[in-house]
Amino acid sequence: MIFHDIIVVGGGLAGLRAAIAAKMNGVDVAVISKLHPVRSHSGAAQGGINAALANNPEGKDDTPERHAYDTIKGSDFLADQEAAFIMTSTAPEIIREMEHWGCPFSRFEDGSVAQRPFGGAGFPRTCYGADRTGHYLLQTLFEQCVKHQVKIMEEWFVLGLSIDDNRTCRGVVCLDLHNGNLEMVGANAVIFATGGSGRMYGTKTSNALTSTGLGIAMPFWAGVPIKDIEFVQFHPTTLFKNNVLMTEGCRGEGGYLINKDGERYMGRYVSEKVMELGPRDIVSRSTQTEIEEGRGVEGKYVYLDLRHLGAQKIMERLPGIREICIDFIGIDPIEEPIPIVPGMHYTMGGIDCDQDGKTEVPGFYAAGECACVSVHGANRLGGNSLLETVVFGRRSGEDASKYVKDKEKKAQESALKKSLEEVKGQLNTIGGGNGKENPYEIRDELGDVMVKHFGIFRTGEEMKEGLEKLNGLIERFKKIRPIDNCKAWNFDKLWIMELAGNLCLTECIALGALNRTESRGAHFRRDFSKRDDANWLKHTLYRHTPEGPQIGYKEVQLGRFEPEERKY
Ligand SMILES: Cc1cc2nc3c(=O)[nH]c(=O)nc-3n(C[C@H](O)[C@H](O)[C@H](O)COP(=O)(O)OP(=O)(O)OC[C@H]3O[C@@H](n4cnc5c(N)ncnc54)[C@H](O)[C@@H]3O)c2cc1C
Repeated sequence: MIFHDIIVVGGGLAGLRAAIAAKMNGVDVAVISKLHPVRSHSGAAQGGINAALANNPEGKDDTPERHAYDTIKGSDFLADQEAAFIMTSTAPEIIREMEHWGCPFSRFEDGSVAQRPFGGAGFPRTCYGADRTGHYLLQTLFEQCVKHQVKIMEEWFVLGLSIDDNRTCRGVVCLDLHNGNLEMVGANAVIFATGGSGRMYGTKTSNALTSTGLGIAMPFWAGVPIKDIEFVQFHPTTLFKNNVLMTEGCRGEGGYLINKDGERYMGRYVSEKVMELGPRDIVSRSTQTEIEEGRGVEGKYVYLDLRHLGAQKIMERLPGIREICIDFIGIDPIEEPIPIVPGMHYTMGGIDCDQDGKTEVPGFYAAGECACVSVHGANRLGGNSLLETVVFGRRSGEDASKYVKDKEKKAQESALKKSLEEVKGQLNTIGGGNGKENPYEIRDELGDVMVKHFGIFRTGEEMKEGLEKLNGLIERFKKIRPIDNCKAWNFDKLWIMELAGNLCLTECIALGALNRTESRGAHFRRDFSKRDDANWLKHTLYRHTPEGPQIGYKEVQLGRFEPEERKY
């Protein structure tokens, strides 16, 4: 049976950084990934990564403390303050590390790493490599993995997390996509770094097709609680029609948002000084309001206007954006404004863990977008997610290295065999019946329900209706047609299991959003439009039970900054 001291699930930035940390500590580690690592969604990140380097003359007074304040204010005071401070105070060092490993950041004239302004930030502190920052960071970390000879098991699809009767993590069960075999992989520690879950919202998301809820659902099913999953971020600027992301860097470089009358409408919602650089929750709501109140173009979208930046700046700083516009919608942003709408972008919630990635289950860790430390609280600031992946990826790899040190280097066969049987049982229950329902119709309808009922603006009425529809889909899913039984490259099996994960997570979102009778960050309820710290300054904690998700709470770690009204 395969055994490694540490198994990292996920080859994105968080997973690779965790694996490098373990390897540098001399620990035997392997990465399992359903994709080749450099195809992970991290590679699609465009705009940049935050660190208070104070390289920009306009940001020379910036400090990790200010960065922490902006992050916590952006989070609508739901972030754990110490964790946020750990992230922001590690940021300068982690950027230097990436720089020394060869990441080709864009630079100022004096050779220092360039920084651009981003939403909700008091200073220009977003480091970038043109508009391909994620791609550069991911290639850099992948090179380090090659250098350190990190073992990578790619195109292996993890289907189950093994936790024994003493509630200790023992490894994972995977489907080797090449031949369809189910394999047990033993480990003393497992780090999940499975990324975001945007595809719960169907096609109305900036996320890759591979970003689904299964990575969070698996540990949830195995008994690990998840946290704050009701907070779903909409990015203000995704392409009208296909929701491909137009980075916040467009506005950081000076782009305007204009409505059908050519008016820069953000002045209506935030101060003149802030304008397009408000935090994402506010800019998304403002844009949606413009469209709903009839000031959208054809009643459907608004424009992101870059024309005044000029050809040189666009080609130098935003070449990828220009390319996407030309390739996907036949518009050159040097000459025409870009039609955009808000689109689902990021899950603030995830697997409940601490600042070292530790969960409630010894030996089981989480890092990156699938984790909820929580540093983003109710609303993440642009540029903080890439930062989170590397900072907390590294920390979880380091902590797991210490944890496995004195453990016996041997797979716990009985626990793993039990998990294998459970996975087989689940596959059989889901896809072994003789139902008639088409799973892909359920997937498409699920996306529509989420966008319509759990979107930028929410109300109790609409959410109740949405939950009913969701329950209907869950019932229909129990009656899907059999899963195709081919062995090699069985994507039917993969997608159906991902759908099972999405249905599980969306049910949690629905219940949690209905339960939270206030508005905070990205969770905005028209029927409870104010933040309610007296009752709701707390994390939601979800536990799996046979009767459905059970909701509890967890304290927010405060201490540095008093919660205040959020004004921009
Ligand atoms: C278009 C776009 C642009 C963005 N731009 C920025 C930005 O400029 N700045 C910023 O801070 N943030 C940005 N973000 C957010 C940020 O990129 C992500 O949150 C972050 O990269 C997630 O990294 P990760 O390592 O957690 O996961 P990912 O990079 O998504 O990697 C997940 C990994 O898990 C593996 N995996 C998942 N499930 C399984 C399974 N069951 N079995 C095996 N393997 C599995 C996948 O193969 C993959 O390797 C952007 C996001 C998007 C979608």
